[in-house]
Amino acid sequence: MVGLMRLGIFGGTFDPPHIGHLLLAGEAQEQFQLDLVLWVLTFKPPHKSGQIISSIQDRLDMVMAAINGNRNFELSRIDIDRPAPHYAIDTVRLLGKENPGAELIYLMGGDSLENLLKWYQPAEFVRGCHALGVMRRPGNRIDLTGLESQIPGITHKIRFFDSPLVDISASQIRDRIREGRPYRYFVHPGVFDIIQDRQLYCG
Ligand code: ATP
Repeated sequence: MVGLMRLGIFGGTFDPPHIGHLLLAGEAQEQFQLDLVLWVLTFKPPHKSGQIISSIQDRLDMVMAAINGNRNFELSRIDIDRPAPHYAIDTVRLLGKENPGAELIYLMGGDSLENLLKWYQPAEFVRGCHALGVMRRPGNRIDLTGLESQIPGITHKIRFFDSPLVDISASQIRDRIREGRPYRYFVHPGVFDIIQDRQLYCG
């Protein structure tokens, strides 16, 4: 990966990865002209510690199925192969070391930006990124003035981008499956097959 110019970092639990994630990553790739979007699967997200999460293997297989065939998408094991806690600030630092000279653009939905001050060392995290690519979603209440007062300079780093809005979340999909409601078209067909074969989220 050495010599890449622009790298998108897209972190998530991806339990399961869904169409909203694919649209976000695809639009960011095009609008920021990213050479690569790294899907950083988080082994154990610090902010979801009380929640039951599918096995890393199931989530890994689902992300691989979701991004299969897109040469601008790649799975990163950076937050799988190192010991927890997996803070974004360390992820960015490590990816910067692995890809010297690359421009790192951290991608997120607006809900993640809303909660940024709760992240571990948010100011240092922002400093470590060349830019934050943020997709605004309905209902987002992003307080840029508040963020700027806590993290001076952040406004210059935020680049909003547009993506077709789909009101889907992984938790909504898990609920639908548990309730026996349809979810097939909320996910990539390969992801659907894995969920069905392994009977994920049924219990
Ligand atoms: P959960 O419902 O379990 O919290 P999630 O669907 O939000 O999961 P995550 O893996 O936690 O999925 O999210 C990874 C990233 O994807 C976050 O930055 C989040 O803002 C973004 N994201 C999630 N759903 C969508 C969507 N429908 N459209 C665009 N971005 C999304």
